[in-house]
Amino acid sequence: MKAMEKIHLTGLTKDDLTEFVKNMGEPSFRAAQIFKGLQNRRLRSFDEMTDLPKAFREKLSAAATASTLKVESRYVSEDGTRRFLMKTHDNLPVETVYIPTENRDTICFSSQSGCPLKCDFCLTAKLGLLRNLTAGEIVEQIIIVLNDVYGVGVETPHGTNLVGMGAGEPFLNYENLIKALGIMSAEEGLFIVPNRVTISTAGIVPKIREFARLENRPHLAISLSAPNDELRDKLMPINKRWNIEELFAAAKEFQASLRRGERFTFEYVLLGGVNDSDEHARKLANLLNRYGLERVKINLIPHNSAEPLEYRPSAPEQVDRFKDILESKGVFAYIRRPRGRDIYAACGQLAAKDSPNLVQITT
Ligand code: SAH
Repeated sequence: MKAMEKIHLTGLTKDDLTEFVKNMGEPSFRAAQIFKGLQNRRLRSFDEMTDLPKAFREKLSAAATASTLKVESRYVSEDGTRRFLMKTHDNLPVETVYIPTENRDTICFSSQSGCPLKCDFCLTAKLGLLRNLTAGEIVEQIIIVLNDVYGVGVETPHGTNLVGMGAGEPFLNYENLIKALGIMSAEEGLFIVPNRVTISTAGIVPKIREFARLENRPHLAISLSAPNDELRDKLMPINKRWNIEELFAAAKEFQASLRRGERFTFEYVLLGGVNDSDEHARKLANLLNRYGLERVKINLIPHNSAEPLEYRPSAPEQVDRFKDILESKGVFAYIRRPRGRDIYAACGQLAAKDSPNLVQITT
């Protein structure tokens, strides 16, 4: 049987696994052992699960797999950021980024190979949609990064953050995304709880509403990048499907689901001379105030340029002015410092590019 025909156990919940081992005629405690092996020890082959009888391991290997992703290359930035370029069993690119910071680490995962949205300022858009990633492929990205950073079997340090801000539109792969997040939150597994997770959407309105109703949901970020429909239509064509009014109505509903002290985010990519004037900043603040979106923070992202994108980042002084104008109107804003630009790992740069600083994986 080829790898692709085997069932990828990394994408199964504990309940799914229980069902799976039952169907194999095995006792259900085997499910707990396999789950722990995959999700807690982060093993990517059954051979390493030496607490399982050898005959059972062989039977497992015949029907299932513990790994479908292959790391093709790993790039390390001068700022410590790492970009992993992986391939699926059908040879499609999947990229994941590890971003170390002083007090916590962040892993940025992809939800799709490529992306169907045509945001004009984003390099991933140039790939088009290759396909949705499975729940197993989403979870395995995180396992691969954790193993590289901390070593196989070493417990995930408490406080590792996860962001769904890699390639693809998470809310166009909603079911697999939510399933993967559920698997990753298990205490006996990776134990990355929803409170440590942020999902970013370009504005898939019905899914924002569905997400708002989720019990125990992760945090939300919405990519906005323009204060009016005319400009947003051009920069983010998804706006023609759901315009700012519809998007803000859903955001308002999401706001009502916030917990005590929680905020949600609007991301705004700053494009020099395009959406970064004082007037744009005032319009943006007025828009938020008009809709009563007060539990929001604006994440200002200076554009990460790359061929063949025709945009340039805003001047640093203008980025500061933009922030000051928002804050003078009572809108909380901060500037996202670019990470891993030199290795095509920064926001909007994931396009399976080759880059210098190739550091082969050793684990
Ligand atoms: N599709 C989702 C998830 C991707 S998140 C979404 O759009 O939200 C990636 C973030 O990077 C988005 O906020 C996007 O607007 C931003 N981005 C895209 N291209 C960029 C670029 N070249 N420079 C800086 N930010 C970019």
